[in-house]
Amino acid sequence: MKPFIGCDLGGTNLRAAIIDVETGQVLHQSGIPTLAREGQEAVMRRIANLILQVINESGFSKTEIGGIGIGVPGVLDIERGVVLFLPNLPGTWPDVPLADTIEKLTGLPVRILNDVRSITYGEWRFGAGRGVDTMAVLAIGTGIGGGLIINSQLHLGIGGTGGELGHTVIDYNGPRCGCGNYGCLEAYASGPAIAAMGMKAVAQGLTTVIGELCEYDLNRITPALIAKAAESGDEIAMDIYERAGFYLGVAASSLCAAIGPRRIVVCGGVAQAGDLLLKPMERTMRVRVHVMPVDQVQVLQGQLGDNAGVIGVALWSAS
Ligand SMILES: [Zn+2]
Repeated sequence: MKPFIGCDLGGTNLRAAIIDVETGQVLHQSGIPTLAREGQEAVMRRIANLILQVINESGFSKTEIGGIGIGVPGVLDIERGVVLFLPNLPGTWPDVPLADTIEKLTGLPVRILNDVRSITYGEWRFGAGRGVDTMAVLAIGTGIGGGLIINSQLHLGIGGTGGELGHTVIDYNGPRCGCGNYGCLEAYASGPAIAAMGMKAVAQGLTTVIGELCEYDLNRITPALIAKAAESGDEIAMDIYERAGFYLGVAASSLCAAIGPRRIVVCGGVAQAGDLLLKPMERTMRVRVHVMPVDQVQVLQGQLGDNAGVIGVALWSAS
């Protein structure tokens, strides 16, 4: 089978990789800044040029490439290959014919898929989800993205919009979420939500090393900095991860009831906190779920790191 190109359209960086779809191996890859402020037309030209550059550098000819998959951070209509809404890119890209445009500029067939659904497919085929028929992925970063594998298929739903697990409501009276709903998981356990808990603790004058670590500049508080404090035994920092893990566990409990997953894979930058986050999440699920065998649900960290998305979207485009 011909190799495919996996491309990641990020708010900051564009990446393109040539993927061996039999093994999931990255054969060659390259990246450039997105320069999203230049607008959608300019960004699409940059994507096409990056793809052509990666093919050139790799020594493959264009006819030896099977096609292109692009992972996109937002709401899409994957059947029409159209972007509907990218919350984190200037202009938000309403009704942008991304697949057609890149097809015209590169001369190769293009499919598009949400970025975390791409990660989900990659982790399922060659990462932490190998060998199971039903799994869920939560990708925790600036927001919380999600994806579902059900009965050995990537679950797509209407236009590929199914799997937005970060918008599972955990408190119907909760704060307004960026999506317009109230009390979504994302408002409680995303990177910014975790950082905000750290800022609040320092601003309240609680006894914690988070203040020293950020040199009392609240803008420098990140989930990674709080994790560092927690690993040194700081109780406030440990409590913050305990709470974030609890919220994830509440959402994961609904997920267990809905799809009976054999695995829940947690990835994204915030997942690097590892057991600090996963243990309280797992504990919460084990205590709260009784309608299915929750002791058989494994909670794991992702295994493919930053490559999960480009691998996944290439494999999915080839499938
Ligand atoms: Zn939401």
